[in-house]
Amino acid sequence: MLSLFTSPGDSLAESVQLDAWQAFQYPLSLVHTVGTLIVCFPYMIVTPIWAFSTLFIVLLPRVTNRLKAAWEGRRIPTSRIAKGVWTIHGRRYDLTEFADTHPGGPWMLELGRNRDCTGLFESYHIFSDMTKLDRILARYELPESKAIKENIGPADNPTGLIFRDAFHEDVKKMARDHFRERGVSHKMKPWVFLCVLIVIAFEIIGLIGIVFYGYRVFLVIVPPLGWLLTGNVSHEASHFGLSSRPWVNTLFAMSSAPLNFNSTCWYIQHIAQHHVYTNDEDDVDLYHFLPVARTTRLSRWHKQFKLQWLSVWMALPTTVLHLSFVVPMDLLTGYIDPVTGTKRYEQCGNVEDLVAGARWSIILEFVLSFSLMPIMFYYHGLVTGFCWLAVLYSFSSLLFVVFTQGAHLQEQCMSPLEEADKSWGKRQVLTSLNFSPDSFFWSLASGGLNMQALHHILPTISSSHLMDMYPRFKEVCAKHNVGLKESDDIFSFFKGFYDWIKELSNEDPLLDKVDDDKASNKVHDDKVNELPMIESLSNENEDPLLDKLKKS
Ligand SMILES: [Zn+2]
Repeated sequence: MLSLFTSPGDSLAESVQLDAWQAFQYPLSLVHTVGTLIVCFPYMIVTPIWAFSTLFIVLLPRVTNRLKAAWEGRRIPTSRIAKGVWTIHGRRYDLTEFADTHPGGPWMLELGRNRDCTGLFESYHIFSDMTKLDRILARYELPESKAIKENIGPADNPTGLIFRDAFHEDVKKMARDHFRERGVSHKMKPWVFLCVLIVIAFEIIGLIGIVFYGYRVFLVIVPPLGWLLTGNVSHEASHFGLSSRPWVNTLFAMSSAPLNFNSTCWYIQHIAQHHVYTNDEDDVDLYHFLPVARTTRLSRWHKQFKLQWLSVWMALPTTVLHLSFVVPMDLLTGYIDPVTGTKRYEQCGNVEDLVAGARWSIILEFVLSFSLMPIMFYYHGLVTGFCWLAVLYSFSSLLFVVFTQGAHLQEQCMSPLEEADKSWGKRQVLTSLNFSPDSFFWSLASGGLNMQALHHILPTISSSHLMDMYPRFKEVCAKHNVGLKESDDIFSFFKGFYDWIKELSNEDPLLDKVDDDKASNKVHDDKVNELPMIESLSNENEDPLLDKLKKS
């Protein structure tokens, strides 16, 4: 064997060295090949399915319909609703004229147009004089709304929860005191913003290094940089917490591209729905992994979920593909999923109106993210380009998933209604899991998402301040007896999520019994109440799933 690598003049020592190197190279290349296959495998399955369904199931029928309409001289109406109505605490306003002077910018108002936006109104006006805001709103109240004389009630919004209760007010006061005492703004700290600009520069250099120079080392450097920008910048800007200038927030919200998500769609998913209706049936985050896996008992058990503890590993590494391409395409085309029978984000009352208004913004971000694919194929060929994209997307997806999915998708965060006393603020705390809140490293690495409860109740405050505020927030929670949930470290944080996925692999025997009995018309409401678990939940703080089952 030695003779294969040595010339007659080489010393024996050199030959042995070469042989040792060769022996080392073999397992290394084996690990490399196996690793590449593992990373690429989900993409080899998901990408053809996505490409086929996008072309032939989503786009082709739509194009055919349009051509047919044009041939027949029919005009396909846009879904944009001409008149804008904003519903807050049961009262209706036309804020169209106010949009351009709104301090948070017109896009912020757009999110609440033609839907109930009580949750957005209450959670983003932490530092505002609410009496003054009520006076401004009164100027724009619609005549039919003014005619409503009766008291609408405290839980006068679709969350069914109460804002401005004693706990919520105390948390907001704590925040106001914190910034007044320090004399600083609640937007991003200047030194953090400087770091952001440096990270953006490095990400651009990294992408150029991969695409144009083929430096493989950047394949593992760019995804963490992309996540740092997503967690610390894009997420924060989408909460209008980065700058007091609306256009700066809009611009930096796009820093999640090209490796994480489409920011325009993110506003609909995260700001308008997830943050207001956390772990409620209207929280769109509960349905992201369908039909591969369910993350809530609100989704009925089906046979395919039996193996979701395994199949979820096809979905997790492709998360950013879903957020960057599948979601925008579904929203733009109004695609109805044949498996779930639902439209993407249909829980959002004004989703069609919003998408119609922001169509070009969604398309622009989609094209910018998508353009990375043909560029990679052009410079590195189909096979290498595909593998490198798979590494970039997989690594980015796993970082995204590890830092985000454990925050609410945990058994302990799923049934907080009784504890929450109908308080929206308490519910935000009880549906969130925090980890290592006293660690500066994890605060920076997670973009403050390790203090999820504090972020959820005060979403517009920059994550760069959360660590300073957390001890006082803890005191307020203790004062009101609200159980702040903390995980020891990021490993148990993520393990809790995976345990929940495994738990939901199993059928829900009691709930399925209710459904089966209902199907055969054997059970009436009083019979439903005889079931022990259901009886314990059959009070005013009812579980939404059981409520749904009873109504159905
Ligand atoms: Zn958020």
